[in-house]
Amino acid sequence: MPLKEIDIAEGLKINSLMEASQQPIPDPDKWLDEEIRRNVLITTVDYVLDWARSRSLFPLMFGLACCAFEMIGAAASRFDIARFGMDIFRWSPRQADLMIVAGTLTWKMAPAVKLVYEQMPEPKWVIAMGQCAISGGPFRESYSVVPGINRIIPVDVYVPGCPPRPEGLLHGIRKIHEKIIRESIKKA
Ligand code: SF4
Repeated sequence: MPLKEIDIAEGLKINSLMEASQQPIPDPDKWLDEEIRRNVLITTVDYVLDWARSRSLFPLMFGLACCAFEMIGAAASRFDIARFGMDIFRWSPRQADLMIVAGTLTWKMAPAVKLVYEQMPEPKWVIAMGQCAISGGPFRESYSVVPGINRIIPVDVYVPGCPPRPEGLLHGIRKIHEKIIRESIKKA
């Protein structure tokens, strides 16, 4: 074949290839993107640390009256606070970072609550569970009852009710989680 015809044939082939190549060929590995999207989470290290810290609270049981039974109910199988990484209530303040005060606090008992709170290591949080712990409840006017545990220790979350149901306490615990994440280890 003469050279000129070879050139023409080659040019035609190139032209037809250019026309057919206006759009990129679909990536045969496109499924990989979808797979990665479903399996990879992108976040920051401090968010992971905050999340882990919020889900590994060590609660200290401080049941003082009737509300304590609802707190105990929250720890049993039906409500199961172990779902939130709180498997065992601690009896030593040195092993705890969440104090749940459930019930009526008397002035006679107040120094003990304050002392136990001070023995807990930082960072630590407090839930006031029930009307008595929040404000003295029906005994508010009594000479012997503390009209709210925030008179002696700082409170992070108030769970109202007389008594609050276990779901109420679980809601309060979720609020503590949010607070821990908001406060963030980054700001500590
Ligand atoms: S708030 Fe009601 S249920 Fe709870 S300790 Fe006081 S009186 Fe008892």
